[in-house]
Amino acid sequence: MKTTAAQAVPPTAHIECPRCHADAIYGYGHIRGGQQRYLCLLCNRQFVLHPAQPILPRRPACPLCGGKMHIYMRHNGQVRFRCAAYPACRGFSKEVY
Ligand SMILES: [Zn+2]
Ligand SMILES: [Zn+2]
Repeated sequence: MKTTAAQAVPPTAHIECPRCHADAIYGYGHIRGGQQRYLCLLCNRQFVLHPAQPILPRRPACPLCGGKMHIYMRHNGQVRFRCAAYPACRGFSKEVY
């Protein structure tokens, strides 16, 4: 699904404008690389949060041991996870977002 129109940000996300610190923020499409872009409704500033660290919607559990997983690679919109117990556990997973 392609979303280019402005959409409401989930109420759990605390986002504020880097210029005027208002929290009247709307999602405003995505920049190249798939990161969410935001628009401040008060001063019309557009900004992106944490450009190097897009927020992940979820983290998988290790398919082998059920433990935590760490990100070890991001590539073309895919995130690859490796079991936190690596190399003792060789669980791998990947998510597309
Ligand atoms: Zn603002
Ligand atoms: Zn594991």
